[in-house]
Amino acid sequence: MVKEKIQYGSSTIEYDLDFSERKTLGIKVHPDKSVQVTAPINSDGQDVKEKVLSKAAWILKQQDFFLLFHPLTPPRKYVSGETHLYLGKQYRLKLVDSDKESVKLSAGWITVSLKDKSKKSRVKRLLRSWYKSKAEIHFNQLFKEKLHVTNSLTNESPTLKYRWMEKRWGSCDRNGTIHLNLELIKAPKVCIEYVIIHEMCHLAHLNHSSAFYGLLDKLFPDWRETKDRLENLMV
Ligand SMILES: [Zn+2]
Repeated sequence: MVKEKIQYGSSTIEYDLDFSERKTLGIKVHPDKSVQVTAPINSDGQDVKEKVLSKAAWILKQQDFFLLFHPLTPPRKYVSGETHLYLGKQYRLKLVDSDKESVKLSAGWITVSLKDKSKKSRVKRLLRSWYKSKAEIHFNQLFKEKLHVTNSLTNESPTLKYRWMEKRWGSCDRNGTIHLNLELIKAPKVCIEYVIIHEMCHLAHLNHSSAFYGLLDKLFPDWRETKDRLENLMV
């Protein structure tokens, strides 16, 4: 097996190349995003590269599809000094013993005050409800700003809901309800916009067909870079 890579626009596609007794070239994209290329024995290296390149758009689409299923940040320990993200910026956590519970954001710190700062589960609960209250404000505002996009896609105005989701950034159902993952409040605003537009495109196409990507390209031309930013930040 050989490691190879090709450049397609701003994306680098890495793949494992294997040779076997077969007549045509086979390409497989696995759920972990890895790409497996199997070529007929005696095929010419450059030839294989060109063939993979001709399938680059499809490979990126497959990778995008699988990526929707595993976003999240690594687990946090909820101790002082640990970094936590908010709107794409890193903040340090400061735990303070206090009779009054609160969460405050200031100059690089997220300060959580509570009765017993050793109670990690309480710190986590307070932080999550703080993130949720911030998400409520920012998601609604961004959604409203992008709502004009949906005029040409559907007759009815979509509804926005949000919740903590384990495996995806957002979803859109047949009734025109768009769900956003509350985890997105940790990402830069442009990434939240990207997920909103992605889900809005599903109002017209419920699948990840080429028509869907055509629409996404039109409405959010930089979506690949933005998606990369989202994924690299959160992983
Ligand atoms: Zn989608």
